[in-house]
Amino acid sequence: MSILLTAAACRTADTQSGTTLNCGGAYEVYLTFDDGPAAGTDDVLANLYYEESGQCISVPATFFVCGYRFRGDQATLDERRGWLNSMLSEGHLIGNHSVEHDKQMYGEPDLMIQDFKDNEATMQEEFERQKAGSTYEEFVRHARLPTQNAWRVDGLAPRDDAATVWPKHPEVASDLDQRGYEVFGWDAEWFGDNNAAKAQENGQSDWFELRQSPSVMATEVLDALKAGRTMKPCKIVVLTHDHYVRNSRSQAAKLSEFIRLLREEATSRGKQVTFHTLRDY
Ligand SMILES: [Zn+2]
Repeated sequence: MSILLTAAACRTADTQSGTTLNCGGAYEVYLTFDDGPAAGTDDVLANLYYEESGQCISVPATFFVCGYRFRGDQATLDERRGWLNSMLSEGHLIGNHSVEHDKQMYGEPDLMIQDFKDNEATMQEEFERQKAGSTYEEFVRHARLPTQNAWRVDGLAPRDDAATVWPKHPEVASDLDQRGYEVFGWDAEWFGDNNAAKAQENGQSDWFELRQSPSVMATEVLDALKAGRTMKPCKIVVLTHDHYVRNSRSQAAKLSEFIRLLREEATSRGKQVTFHTLRDY
């Protein structure tokens, strides 16, 4: 008997936060995609779904876009405006991720703040072109800093993650917060790696692959929710990038596979997952 008690005690100790969240059986998942619209966006959009009773159910997501993507020749512009149009018409949320995505600007925080303002001007023009003025109002309420996992979400304590890869400049996030933005970081990241050998083999300058398998990613997300390792309990913000799936359809297909496995594994844990844009966070 004492051996069993010891084993039970060890199992409890293994749980990372020491407690687990029940969440009333429901988890909210917020998929976010940064740095687009770019090659890959279209394939992301095509894979935001799951099947239920023989029907395809769309999954909403949030796209943090950069103004520099709206430069170039007419063909490039037309293509990117087409992707923006798809994001809008398919009900996704679009947020501000600065024009240049230049982390050097953190050296002079005023420059970075100005770059967010400049992105407002760029995107206002683009939204007007799409006849989506009301969406622009949502755009100026949702921001994410380039390369920094910082949070300024109404009612929650500010957070600037130590894991951030660039020196922290909390004044940028705080300034955006004072200007009416909610600044969103992320709780889990689906990383992308550049496979140099594959790039060479395919005659490309780079070749991105999602690092974690869909199954590993689904488990990471559910484990983080269960252990409460998220900014808000029972909700998780997942980050990845449009361009990680640009080199092959098999990479893009991992997104719908992830969504399928996430629902399946959640069910096996007695949970349900629902998908939302950050307008519902
Ligand atoms: Zn980014």
